[in-house]
Amino acid sequence: MAHELNRREFVRASAISIGAVAAGTTFSVPAATAAGGPHRYVGAGSTARVRPFRLQDVALGESLFSEKRARMLEFARRYDERRFLVLFNDTAGRPNPPGVEVPGGWEDGGLLSGHWTGHFLTMLAQAHASTGEPRFADKLSWMVDELGACQDALAGRTVHPGYLGAKPEDVVLRAGPPRFAVYGGNQDTNTWAPWYTQHKIMRGFLDAYSLAGNERALEIVLRMAHWAHLALTLGDITHPDYAGPITRDDLNYMWDTYIAGEYGGANEVFAELHALTGDAEHLQTAKCFDNRESLFDACVQDRDILVCAPGTQPGRRRPPRLHANTHVPNFTGYMRIFERTGEREYRRAAENFFGMVVPHRMYAHGGTSGNYPGSNNNVEQFQNRDNIANSIASNGAETCTTYNLLKLARNLFFHEQDPAYMDYYERGLVNQIAGSRADTDTTSNPQVTYFQPLTPGVRRGYGNTGTCCGGTGMENHTKYQESIYFRSADASTLWVNLYIASTLEWEEQGFTITQETDYPREQRTRLTVNGRGRLRIKLRVPGWVERGFRVRINGIEQRVKARPGTYLTLDRRWRRGDRIDVSMPFSIRIERARDRPDTQSVFYGPVLLPIVGDPGGGSYRELTLYRDLKRDGDYSRAAITPLDGRDFTTHGLTLRPHYVGDTLPHSPYFRRVEPEIVFGSIETGVPNRKRNDGLPDYDVPVEGIPSPGTDGLTFLDVVWDEAPFATHGEFVATVRRIARDFAEAGLLSRDERRRVVSAAARARRELEP
Ligand SMILES: [Zn+2]
Repeated sequence: MAHELNRREFVRASAISIGAVAAGTTFSVPAATAAGGPHRYVGAGSTARVRPFRLQDVALGESLFSEKRARMLEFARRYDERRFLVLFNDTAGRPNPPGVEVPGGWEDGGLLSGHWTGHFLTMLAQAHASTGEPRFADKLSWMVDELGACQDALAGRTVHPGYLGAKPEDVVLRAGPPRFAVYGGNQDTNTWAPWYTQHKIMRGFLDAYSLAGNERALEIVLRMAHWAHLALTLGDITHPDYAGPITRDDLNYMWDTYIAGEYGGANEVFAELHALTGDAEHLQTAKCFDNRESLFDACVQDRDILVCAPGTQPGRRRPPRLHANTHVPNFTGYMRIFERTGEREYRRAAENFFGMVVPHRMYAHGGTSGNYPGSNNNVEQFQNRDNIANSIASNGAETCTTYNLLKLARNLFFHEQDPAYMDYYERGLVNQIAGSRADTDTTSNPQVTYFQPLTPGVRRGYGNTGTCCGGTGMENHTKYQESIYFRSADASTLWVNLYIASTLEWEEQGFTITQETDYPREQRTRLTVNGRGRLRIKLRVPGWVERGFRVRINGIEQRVKARPGTYLTLDRRWRRGDRIDVSMPFSIRIERARDRPDTQSVFYGPVLLPIVGDPGGGSYRELTLYRDLKRDGDYSRAAITPLDGRDFTTHGLTLRPHYVGDTLPHSPYFRRVEPEIVFGSIETGVPNRKRNDGLPDYDVPVEGIPSPGTDGLTFLDVVWDEAPFATHGEFVATVRRIARDFAEAGLLSRDERRRVVSAAARARRELEP
């Protein structure tokens, strides 16, 4: 969402605004209207074969995730909600109480102001749904009523009726014809993602209605939706150069405009309002957001044009590299249009788009967007397809983008139960999202990350008052339960996607499922089924499982097919108190970057383990590990060993879970340096050469760095990828076979091949586990 200009403005504006209201200040809140129960669910998957439970149906138990949430809930309790009204009141001509400051950051009167109010509404609604604590509903009701009063005060003073915002209506209208305003800081002529801001505010009201039963919020958002319809069809009718209603061509031009055309997932709100009201106008508005000139059709056709060579990009206004977080949420909106209309192209576009990002542009922690030598320095833009290692050069992986990718992944899963979607979801949730919240108790700001760079020796920074990631961050940590369980539409099947301590109340089926685990700090979980009758329970077997995924029911081992990256099914008649014990031993796993196999990250089960410390100068840690391995190939027993139950150690270095919200410098990636073929301490003197794996070159040539091309795995990589070896004989046979392959490819001479096989044969004791 940001570039240099934003940050300069931000600093300047922050310097002007004076003393923030201290955390915990008491203030009087007018009597709140009572919040009712939740309303009909019309969100992601509401018409799909597999559907989510409502947030209020799943209570979070004690775990890493409840700890992260507790800190965010405390922020939600302490933060003075009156601060969110200041700019809205200013715009509506309503007075503000003395001494109440705007939140600050980008929520400071700048052109993006208002977005944070929407996120705060959503957080309060989620917090209410999750805990039932009256304080959240009270705050929410007060804000909704006050914002509604602002909307009323604006009536008759706007071009179209129903506008509500922290900035004047014109800031939104000018993004369309005839002005087509561009992104910038001039309050009179520029704009800054005005429809993104409208989306966040509307989403907040819709969540207040759907999660907390706030009826007034629905009235307000429906009036906003009607305003939006007029703004996107009739347009700026009072402008002297007005030339008639907005055309498809105008809309395409708007949405292709860098940042000014960033609309988040605005289309989702209108599709949901259509579901609630049946009013066709809302569906028409939702489709106004189709980005038809450049990206939509390419995604339908699965043409990856996220990055184009300069000058070859389609469209009149889009930049060669697309801004990642501008586009990811568009596809969640397209999915909602598909869910309302059944129009396949919307779903196909979303499926194909997701496939362009995951795995082709995904970093180890689940994030995307970065930089690479020779490109411009905007780290919020997509990197080239399959450019992972060579895009870590600077910064990137905006937390917002992962927030949106998780939404998209789960939404796609509702329609096609590809376990890869939930593998991605878990990766992003356990690593980047959990790791985005500092483990500190500060409540003056949300204490979340913006970027989570992969650069060696980088430190995470937390805070983010008023930024996009500060907004989505408030949401992330108050909805951890949203994807633990799904259900089939016909209620015959329960999907257990995530092993997170929680209790599901499935009233309709009369089942209560309690899950006890400290996952991912524990490698097991226990599900207790309370209820009677037949139910298929599908347990996710994570893609990272290497061995030993076991299921017992009431203590009796079950014969299950636990293939990694699948779901296994327990189909039976359940009785009250049935216990399902799942054990899923973690192992230390090395993950290689797609474009440079020697650029690697370490995982323990689902948990990314960056190396603590700063190697200095942005250079990579270099690790030599094959020397340490035994025949079982188990890194955790020989090369990267447990330190204290949480951290690991290798060669005097400490590896710490990425979810730990600290500020220590760390390196999520390291370079693997294995120059010689060795077996334990037995050396061969033979270079550990790379095979030519014909890795795909970057889709758009990158200046200054070699494309992957002939890069590939080394001899030792290929050997050890076949571990564990049951016997020494099996190990030697594997070495012999791979040595022959390398010799045939001209990578080992006859003499080298003989020396390698002979050394392997002599390494029996060396490799004994
Ligand atoms: Zn962001």
